[in-house]
Amino acid sequence: MDKLKEECLKGEMPKVSLYDIHAHLGSTRDYPGFYATTEEIVGEMDRIGIKKAIVFPLEVYGTEFSHSNDGIIADCNKFPEHLIGFCMVNLNYPQNVIEEEIERCRKSGIVGIKLIAQYQGYPDEGKNVEFVCEYANYHKMPILNHCWGSPEFLERLVRRYPSFHYICGHPLLEYTEVVNKYENVWFCTGGIFRLGEVEKMVGTMRNDRICWGSDFSDLHFGWTLGPILLAEIGEETKRRILGENMVQLLKKLGIGER
Ligand SMILES: [Zn+2]
Repeated sequence: MDKLKEECLKGEMPKVSLYDIHAHLGSTRDYPGFYATTEEIVGEMDRIGIKKAIVFPLEVYGTEFSHSNDGIIADCNKFPEHLIGFCMVNLNYPQNVIEEEIERCRKSGIVGIKLIAQYQGYPDEGKNVEFVCEYANYHKMPILNHCWGSPEFLERLVRRYPSFHYICGHPLLEYTEVVNKYENVWFCTGGIFRLGEVEKMVGTMRNDRICWGSDFSDLHFGWTLGPILLAEIGEETKRRILGENMVQLLKKLGIGER
């Protein structure tokens, strides 16, 4: 049994620098999450040993995206050591509104984009997804998408818009081939793993593109840490997934240590 698994089973905090590629801030009455304030969330990150987290709004459905993005901008300005902001847009809006909002956020220090078409009743492979990719390609902004549609659709986008980093927001193993084939496709572990699936992912997917994502505060940090810490994949691979791979992504994005 490796050390990280042993410590996890004893209930100890993982002795590894954690980097979280998928987290949300901004609880609301309609979409409550853990903790009332960002101060408390950052305190919890320090307690667990999470060095940095990519964060975007928790609200996903309606017209409130500018307000939600303002919250992310304010939180990232307050905690620049801990938080890296991605903005979120509602894909049902006209393209000029989507572009204006991303542009406004980019000029306020937001470095990437979060998409979640499914929750907005918008098709995963709709034309506005491609529109946002075109923008991201021009400005070299990474996109974390809740779901990139079919692997064929994702591959088509990667070939057409090759100048930015694609992040698969949840662990859908059907993207394995696309992740393996391209240098700029990353895979987030934030989601459900059944017994043996972490081992299967590590056995079939290039290990330098798999990054731990908590999906906080939809889920608590520990919920998605457990399956990685307890898997039979060796300590070195765990350290890569839990932090080192995202450090490499941040370097490629020019974010590095701040
Ligand atoms: Zn999420």
